[in-house]
Amino acid sequence: MTAAYEYETHVYDVVVVGAGGAGLRATLGMAEQGLRTACVTKVFPTRSHTVAAQGGIAASLSNMGPDNWQWHMYDTVKGSDWLGDTDAMEYLARSAPAAVYELEHYGVPFSRTEEGKIYQRPFGGHTTEFGEGPPVQRTCAAADRTGHAILHTLYGQSVKNNAEFYIEYFAIDLIMSEDGQCQGVVCWKLDDGTMHVFNAKMVVLATGGYGRAYFSATSAHTCTGDGGGMVARAGLGLQDMEFVQFHPTGIYGSGCLITEGARGEGGYLTNSEGERFMERYAPTYKDLAPRDYVSRSMTMEIREGRGVGEHGDHIHLNLSHLPAEALAERLPGISESAKIFAGVDVTKEPIPVLPTVHYNMGGIPTNYWGEVINPTADNKNAIVPGLMAVGEAGCASVHGANRLGSNSLIDLVVFGRAAAIRAGKVVDADAPNPVLNQASVDKAFDRFDRYRNASGATPTAELRLEMQRTMQADAAVFRTAETMKEGVEKMDAVAAKMDDIKVTDRSLIWNSDLMETLELTNLMPNALATIYGAEARKESRGAHAHEDFPERDDENWRVHTIAHLDGNKVALSYRDVIKDPLTTEDQGGISLKKIAPKARTF
Ligand SMILES: Cc1cc2nc3c(=O)[nH]c(=O)nc-3n(C[C@H](O)[C@H](O)[C@H](O)COP(=O)(O)OP(=O)(O)OC[C@H]3O[C@@H](n4cnc5c(N)ncnc54)[C@H](O)[C@@H]3O)c2cc1C
Repeated sequence: MTAAYEYETHVYDVVVVGAGGAGLRATLGMAEQGLRTACVTKVFPTRSHTVAAQGGIAASLSNMGPDNWQWHMYDTVKGSDWLGDTDAMEYLARSAPAAVYELEHYGVPFSRTEEGKIYQRPFGGHTTEFGEGPPVQRTCAAADRTGHAILHTLYGQSVKNNAEFYIEYFAIDLIMSEDGQCQGVVCWKLDDGTMHVFNAKMVVLATGGYGRAYFSATSAHTCTGDGGGMVARAGLGLQDMEFVQFHPTGIYGSGCLITEGARGEGGYLTNSEGERFMERYAPTYKDLAPRDYVSRSMTMEIREGRGVGEHGDHIHLNLSHLPAEALAERLPGISESAKIFAGVDVTKEPIPVLPTVHYNMGGIPTNYWGEVINPTADNKNAIVPGLMAVGEAGCASVHGANRLGSNSLIDLVVFGRAAAIRAGKVVDADAPNPVLNQASVDKAFDRFDRYRNASGATPTAELRLEMQRTMQADAAVFRTAETMKEGVEKMDAVAAKMDDIKVTDRSLIWNSDLMETLELTNLMPNALATIYGAEARKESRGAHAHEDFPERDDENWRVHTIAHLDGNKVALSYRDVIKDPLTTEDQGGISLKKIAPKARTF
């Protein structure tokens, strides 16, 4: 029998799920074109995790010295450790300057140079001369509150353009037709317990990452991979989930982020001997080598007994040599965080730091228009009609095996915009909306009802912690065949306990117990796909450092992992990386020879 829930139906051209930088940029672009657009979000738009982004947004504006999009593209390709899709990476680097000027014109209050241009700072992995030249200042910043500035501006602009917001609505599941078209989404309104069905010609998932599958993460508690969960339950694949970025500088203990901008402004790391050890690992770029590289170097120092603190289990980040005025002007937010979360005065003492889960390179596979890909036997790039994914929830893939700092914020706005452009072409505002597949709607309510009345013995918080500890231990910076095999077995056991989950609150209004349970049902498939994908990948690439297979293996493994879930069972398949750029060399593009894979050293 199907669970009986009354619901209200809303009809739109486009429904965007998520109001972070990606969701808002997509919403704004759709609304600007006159598409009837709704944006559904489980938190107030300006509380999305994007608000916490500190360091900045990458674009080759050349405000601080020579730069161009070809260099930015090369750095992104190399940063991805040659796993990114080349067409998407070109699209990102080429569109970046225009996307930043657009933000400026929308009203983002960027920091300025003396001449009034947008201020740009150095960030890890961003270089000149196709990786042969010195570091470049490419990261545009609004002090150390860049995400905050962008999010508030985009929200204001979306409201101005008559996008309609459904705030504190929790999307439960996608509505899929029998033949695999997305038709809308089923939502639960958190503050009054009513149910809502959104019928749309296009659904855009912009639900952010799933950092909370781990114990220590810089991301908000709301980053629970809900989009990935919905996609997995719809029988679609998740891509490259084994690539999880650890940020080198999470504050020891709390996990709170200290932006890479701190090293960009001249900060450096030291071990227990006071040595600037990054000079040994990365003689050229030192503390500004990419994140996977720095995180691994820090972990090596700690493993070899040169960690700092009572337990020798962390590293120091030094800023006290920088002028106090520079710290106050360029890094006010992190000076405050260091005081609150580590009790440290950055003008006098080093900050205790540790690599902390920060970003999910993997996600819902898409092309560079944001259209979701569902590889079939005869077409590895086949798209799912009516469904797009953008931002950290998606995988275009521009970050490949490792994302460069400040390349996510630019990804949000470039692909949020691209999705809107594409929707302008494929969504017919005059056509009737789809006739909803009632079976799919009923299925969503049934699942909701099952968890609402779950009366097992395992509380949600307990099982979530077990999952987070398992992922932290076995799908971390260092990975061996043995730890990952163990991790797979442990995660199988953890996921099986979902059947024994216990929800104590049966009400529908502000039922955070039930909401967190639904979030756990989303975290679980993300976590499973991550550990299974990692166990299967017999090489080291970007963030996936496999101790038993320390080399990158382009011959066998320059492929995207696609994970399909059937309940808790994970089936893996593979899809070729797109190796051709969009434009050829004689059209101003970049030569294939220049971006051909080579050893990634810094
Ligand atoms: C502390 C921190 C600092 C960072 N600094 C930088 C930086 O300086 N530069 C950079 O490039 N990148 C940075 N990043 C990475 C970058 O900020 C994120 O990748 C990016 O903000 C993600 O944006 P998003 O729009 O994809 O998702 P988010 O901003 O996470 O937003 C997700 C949205 O989805 C909604 N949502 C989720 N699930 C549901 C559901 N079930 N129903 C309804 N709504 C739902 C939420 O309400 C929210 O609105 C940082 C990340 C962190 C954590």
